[in-house]
Amino acid sequence: MNIIVCIKQVPSTNEVRLDPEKHTIIRDGRQSVINPFDTHGIEAAVALKEKHGGKVSCLSMGIPATERLLRDAIASGADDALLLTDRAFAGADTYATAYALACGVRKMTDPDLIICGKMAVDGDTAQIGPELASQLGIPFLSDVTEIIESAEDHLICRCQSDGGSMVARMELPGLITVTRELNQPRFPSIAGIRASRQASVVSMGAQEVEADPKLIGLSGSPTRVVKSYAPDKETKAQVLNGPAATLSQTLLAMIKEAK
Ligand SMILES: Cc1cc2nc3c(=O)[nH]c(=O)nc-3n(C[C@H](O)[C@H](O)[C@H](O)COP(=O)(O)OP(=O)(O)OC[C@H]3O[C@@H](n4cnc5c(N)ncnc54)[C@H](O)[C@@H]3O)c2cc1C
Repeated sequence: MNIIVCIKQVPSTNEVRLDPEKHTIIRDGRQSVINPFDTHGIEAAVALKEKHGGKVSCLSMGIPATERLLRDAIASGADDALLLTDRAFAGADTYATAYALACGVRKMTDPDLIICGKMAVDGDTAQIGPELASQLGIPFLSDVTEIIESAEDHLICRCQSDGGSMVARMELPGLITVTRELNQPRFPSIAGIRASRQASVVSMGAQEVEADPKLIGLSGSPTRVVKSYAPDKETKAQVLNGPAATLSQTLLAMIKEAK
């Protein structure tokens, strides 16, 4: 089973900095980690490779420093990686990101399965998985909490939904987005860390993946961020004392006033 795991570099802290003019996230590679949901994607892919054989490849669109994180993924059991890095990709919205990733997928060994995280902890749209599946014309299951059955030609998965959960069968090739409940990511082994230093991490730009320049980056993005700002953090606490009956009335009055 050939599996591609999509990996996004995200800031390791909540200190997300925004470019005040471009309204985009400033990514300088410092203090970055693999999006936590993607570590569960890597674990799921490596477990499926152990069961069915095949290869696990990682794919990321990011700055050159993302290579370090792709090597971390290889240390955790992936075999190789493709990094899409090019100034022409900068400023992409989710649609342009999914398009660029689809161009990358087409340059890789034909996948039976593509795995994305449920969402990125910084962008948080949860759109890339479904959009990538749509761009590639393959089925997808989102918010997978359990892979109940896996075979060369299909998966049966339990998926989280707003009202509970559902069990669904998907023919392969297909795409899943995964949740934290799916598994416990393993620690990199010493052999894995050694392998990650030698492993192939190929970098490609927009031309190499034959991306249409009109569909990538800021100019290829159908959405525009017109304003971005960090919300004011205001902590106003008021301690109320007195008997419960009076307190509830006071509280109700305060809530009505605040509305
Ligand atoms: C107009 C506009 C301009 C933007 N400009 C910038 C910018 O200049 N710089 C910037 O960093 N962001 C920018 N963004 C945000 C960027 O579009 C999103 O971060 C990106 O498309 C992924 O969306 P998300 O973070 O919500 O991922 P989600 O959809 O929540 O992520 C789900 C999963 O998709 C996969 N995934 C997501 N992104 C990638 C990736 N890059 N590579 C591989 N796998 C991935 C991962 O598996 C991840 O777990 C911009 C957004 C808009 C709307």
